[in-house]
Amino acid sequence: MLSVENLQAGYGSAQALFGVTLTVGGGEVVTLLGRNGMGKTTTLRAIMGLLPKIAGQVRFDGTDLTTAPPYRIAQAGIGYVPEGRQIFPTLSVEENLIATAANTRKGRWSLQTVYTMFPRLKERRTNPAALLSGGEQQMLAIGRALMTNPRLLILDEATEGLAPLIRAEIWARLAELKAAGEAILVVDKNIDALTKLADRHVMLEKGSVMWTGTSTDLRNDPSVIERYLHL
Ligand code: ATP
Repeated sequence: MLSVENLQAGYGSAQALFGVTLTVGGGEVVTLLGRNGMGKTTTLRAIMGLLPKIAGQVRFDGTDLTTAPPYRIAQAGIGYVPEGRQIFPTLSVEENLIATAANTRKGRWSLQTVYTMFPRLKERRTNPAALLSGGEQQMLAIGRALMTNPRLLILDEATEGLAPLIRAEIWARLAELKAAGEAILVVDKNIDALTKLADRHVMLEKGSVMWTGTSTDLRNDPSVIERYLHL
């Protein structure tokens, strides 16, 4: 469904990605792993059209999105939960959810279905988003992405900085989305949760893919984690 080929991108004259190739199939959960600064966020931002690409190709469902602007990429069916959540702090929870929903795909996601998945958002629907806890803000960021009815959900640092109970809730919701057939590309540091949820893993080092494999491959070869994730 998503096919990224030989992606090169960076910041001004500083190149950060040196030919990243990865795929996410329909209904598949894939992780992007690597130590800090290895290019995970840059890969996601380049896929979403938030960074100019130096070279390479991004295709989704057969459509070339390499040079498409972010709103077209969202309309094509990719939902994005950015690092740091990036919610609109002065808007209410409900206004945040509605803000992304106009002119997007039709599907099962609406205020009602998002509130069913995250009842806490319903309880706080009139509150300014800035007053939510970190966990609630992450639920809001996920709900806001779901409101675009994506076929692929991309999450950067899915549970970063959240309390253990809230983390567990986010992982449970992502497992529900997977069970419902949603494809997911996720960055996070929690290897245990990721190996339970994901089908495949892509390991980045210095802007290049160094290893890819299934969760079973990763469990069977601890040296991969040692080599690419430990300091
Ligand atoms: P982290 O887990 O710390 O977010 P990451 O794997 O997501 O790490 P990136 O944020 O993609 O890594 O960073 C890749 C490279 O790009 C690093 O060398 C980083 O210093 C550089 N970089 C990231 N953001 C910028 C920026 N806004 N301007 C210049 N260089 C940047």
